[in-house]
Amino acid sequence: MPELPEVETTRRGITPHIENNTITKVIVRNRSLRWPIPTGLNTKLKNRKILSVTRRAKYLLLKTDVGSLIIHLGMSGSLRISPMTTAVEKHDHFELQFKDGNCLRLRDPRRFGAVLWTKNDPQEHKLLINLGPEPLDKTFNADLLFNKSRKRKTSIKQFIMDAKIVVGVGNIYASESLFLAGIQPKRLAGKITKKHALDLTAAIKKILKQAIKQGGTTLKDFKSSDGKPGYFQQKLKVYDRKGEACATCKKPIKQITLGQRSTFYCTHCQK
Ligand SMILES: [Zn+2]
Repeated sequence: MPELPEVETTRRGITPHIENNTITKVIVRNRSLRWPIPTGLNTKLKNRKILSVTRRAKYLLLKTDVGSLIIHLGMSGSLRISPMTTAVEKHDHFELQFKDGNCLRLRDPRRFGAVLWTKNDPQEHKLLINLGPEPLDKTFNADLLFNKSRKRKTSIKQFIMDAKIVVGVGNIYASESLFLAGIQPKRLAGKITKKHALDLTAAIKKILKQAIKQGGTTLKDFKSSDGKPGYFQQKLKVYDRKGEACATCKKPIKQITLGQRSTFYCTHCQK
């Protein structure tokens, strides 16, 4: 599943190709994604220029002077730039064609992705307005994490995965951040110390920045037509490493289930 680093990598990959580029045609081949792709997009967007490509949580926001497209990659979506003469594949559901002969194609085999439209500020859209801070933003800091966690009886892992607290900390990154911060994932959010909050916010930022940096090396994949999304294998310390030796203490990594999600940690290094 594309997580925040993949979405940010996608944003950086497609931006130079579509920003300030003029849309000549919008093609919807299959409207039934997570929500139906709205009708009339070709009329609205024909001859409009993409003014900016930004990201909020895992939503990509393509702004024009008449409104914004909000794109989510869902479980299996990917965006690619290719010449519009490139053969269309089975799961290429949505396409923006540009004046320079290239197109932006959304491929989504499982169709949990979304293409939405708003003529207003997309930050005010109902899907975005209640989201917590961006993890790499200064507004996400130890004080915020500590204060919001008081009296919370959920596990710290589920707490940091709650998009109302902070966006973009998916299952993999939650396990990895808690390992880096030395915090046991089952610990109650209300019981973390100020030191924990400081270590954990720093760990989340570090892990996500690393993943984005690694994604940058695969940017070239966004301009290919081989159908492979530009996602990347990351160097993980605990996630999906059940029974393998902890990188720090060599004891086996443990797997548990928390909030129905696989959770990996070291019983020795994480307290
Ligand atoms: Zn360990």
